[in-house]
Amino acid sequence: MNKKILVSLAAVVLLTGCQALNGDGTADSSGKNVVSTSTETTSSVEPEKKEPVLPNVSTADWNLLLVNSDNPMDSSREIPLTVLSNGLQIDQRMEPDYTAWMDAAKNAGLSMVLISAYRSIDLQKTVYDQSIQDYLNQGKDYETALKETNAYVAYPGASEHHSALAVDMVDSDWLATGKGLIPEYDQTASQKWLMQTMKDYGFILRFPKSKEASTKISYESWHFRYVGKENAAYIIENNLSLEEYIAKLKEAGK
Ligand SMILES: [Zn+2]
Repeated sequence: MNKKILVSLAAVVLLTGCQALNGDGTADSSGKNVVSTSTETTSSVEPEKKEPVLPNVSTADWNLLLVNSDNPMDSSREIPLTVLSNGLQIDQRMEPDYTAWMDAAKNAGLSMVLISAYRSIDLQKTVYDQSIQDYLNQGKDYETALKETNAYVAYPGASEHHSALAVDMVDSDWLATGKGLIPEYDQTASQKWLMQTMKDYGFILRFPKSKEASTKISYESWHFRYVGKENAAYIIENNLSLEEYIAKLKEAGK
């Protein structure tokens, strides 16, 4: 009789554990599933490795639009754009978070300048061709000019700036030095502040130093990407690139 009580008590405990594991609402209420999961739970009671719970989002969400060389922009996709005070455009759905972030920067004594935001495919072609020309003007041969351009400038159609969710930013002091967009911008107080606060406003550093193999784009300390607060928190806390995060979501059927 005692044995019987113990068994049913164990079942209750295991059932609770199972539900806790499936926090996203995927817990199966059928007894069968609970029993088979319970066996696993029992064997791994001690060394419990906690896999962080993925946010309840979908790879089809507007703020997770992936644009890269493997996923060129669908030119028929309509993006609701809003024009900012300096004439540049971003997706209007990210505007409240972007404005809040820039207001906070101002309050922190920083003077951020938005260098680039939404780019049409035509504009990207101009940027791309200009970059090659700049290298040629520096006396480099065409092959080198093309190689160095491809390291930083996405091929027209493959730029994340087509998504209207990407912003290139430096502060006004840096801009005045004429150094332009170079990785060393990360030595400035403003870039450090952006890195510390981006998560709270739904942004990530899109092309980090440690993720060049995954993003296929060299480290860009000035290029931030809006993904929304929930996604930004997961990506930053788990040290992922956007490509890795989206692959993880897809694997989980999201
Ligand atoms: Zn950029």
